[in-house]
Parts: sequence; structure tokens; C-alpha cells
Amino acid sequence: MAAAAERPALLAHGLTKQYGELRAVDGISLTVNRGECIALLGPNGAGKTTTVEMLEGLVRPDAGEITILGRSLATDRQFVLERIGVVLQETTLYKRYTVAETVALFASFYAQSLSPEVVIKRLQLEDKASTQLRNLSGGQRQRVYLACALINDPELLFLDEPTTGLDPQARRSIWELVAELKKEGRSVLLTTHYMEEAEVLADRVLIIDHGKVIAEGTPQQLIRDTCGEMVKQVRQGTLEDVFLQLTGRSMRNG
Ligand code: ATP
Repeated sequence: MAAAAERPALLAHGLTKQYGELRAVDGISLTVNRGECIALLGPNGAGKTTTVEMLEGLVRPDAGEITILGRSLATDRQFVLERIGVVLQETTLYKRYTVAETVALFASFYAQSLSPEVVIKRLQLEDKASTQLRNLSGGQRQRVYLACALINDPELLFLDEPTTGLDPQARRSIWELVAELKKEGRSVLLTTHYMEEAEVLADRVLIIDHGKVIAEGTPQQLIRDTCGEMVKQVRQGTLEDVFLQLTGRSMRNG
């Protein structure tokens, strides 16, 4: 049991995906330890979503190995899928279902799940339980997607741009939830375009460009190693500075 707890939640080695002439992901390796949040940062088209979709079992890698919770995704797919939670970048749910119906539907997909009422309460959606998804705000709808991702009590969560388009308050409430999930010992793999989000949530950051990891470390390490003296004399460095230095692009406009 102790050995299982110490094993990384996720180990990926040499992930590669080719679309025609384009190598969207080019030999990416990464580890997510238990209770750790890793953020993948990169400009538009860098290969973040393709990487995450391979790890979620949605896209088949051309090469590479994925081990989740000690099991191979390729050979123990059902075991793995029962124990991970996923918030996709774009989710199309039936908009005429209510919040309660949607979460109950997701509960039915798993051999073991939490009570939909408990998860709805955790996401502070009780007063919206009978509301159809089409009548929710963007932030409320995102909380429904998170409820669906949490319904199987997952040990590892994949959050692909979970706060894109949300107002600062809704974003902060999702940050608080992610921080709680980490405290519970769950592991999180996050992609984001918001530097502040990565600085607040991530224990380690991987910067991806052209399908490869071009830098890896804690936010503080990356800022120190990449910006060094340049920004220190003027002001405190940020992940935004790291990103600009390494990719030549601004995070905000990709
Ligand atoms: P963004 O930040 O814009 O979401 P990303 O880093 O997540 O970008 P991906 O969505 O992984 O990038 O895309 C990487 C590259 O692979 C892009 O050039 C994209 O056009 C291409 N790509 C992704 N999926 C497919 C597909 N199914 N068929 C062909 N090309 C694809």
C-alpha cells in the first residue's frame, strides 16, 4: 500500500503523435507525482491538448508509453479510465439536461461513483440542481463539468484550460477547488494560458513548443534560470517573462 502511494500518479515516456506532415507531439516525457499539480504551458498549437488527450486515452499515440496509477493505459485501459477525471477544453453536453440529470448520467458511467448530491453540493451548485445547462452562466457550467470529472472520486485529474473565458471571481473559485483537491492527495495535470494560474496552482511547470518540452521546473526555478539578472534589476520576474524568453511569443496572444 505504501509503495502504491509513493508511485507516481502518471508516468509518460516518449509520447509522439504525427498528423500528416506535422509532428504535433515529438517525444514528450513527463511525470506527475501523487498530490502534485503539473501545468503544461505553450503557445497555440504547441501540442498541449494532443499530449493531454493521449494521456486521457482519447488519442492513440504513435509511440511512447503511459503508466497511470501503476498500470499501463494501453493494456489496463478500463482500470485507468475508472480512476481518472477529465475536463476537456471543449465539452458538448446535452444542454436541456438539468445539472442533477447531467451529474447522475456521469455517475452511471462508472462502476463506483460518489453520490451526485454530494458532488453537486461540493461544487456549490445545489440551488442550480434543477436548472437546465443552457440556462447556466459560463462559470456555473464549468463547475458542472468539474462535478462530472469528480463523480468517480478520481485520483488523477486532467484539466484542459479549465478557466478560459471565466471572470476573475469564477476563476478564483476553481483555483480554490483545485488547491483543495491537491490537499486531498489527488494529482492534477493542467493546461492553461494564464500565467497567474500556473504560478498559483502548479508545483512544476512544463513549457512545450513545437511538440517538445523546452523547459521544466518549479515556477521559481524557471523564473530564476531563464530571466536571471535581466529582470531582477528592474522588477521581480514572472512566468510570463520565462515564456517570452523561451518561445519568443507572448502567452496572451499565443
Ligand atoms: P491551443 O493552446 O491552441 O489549445 P495546443 O498546444 O493544445 O494549442 P494542439 O491542439 O495539441 O495544440 O495541436 C497541436 C498541433 O496539432 C496543431 O498544429 C494542430 O493543428 C494539430 N492537430 C491537432 N489535432 C489534429 C488532428 N486531429 N488532425 C490534424 N492536426 C491536428
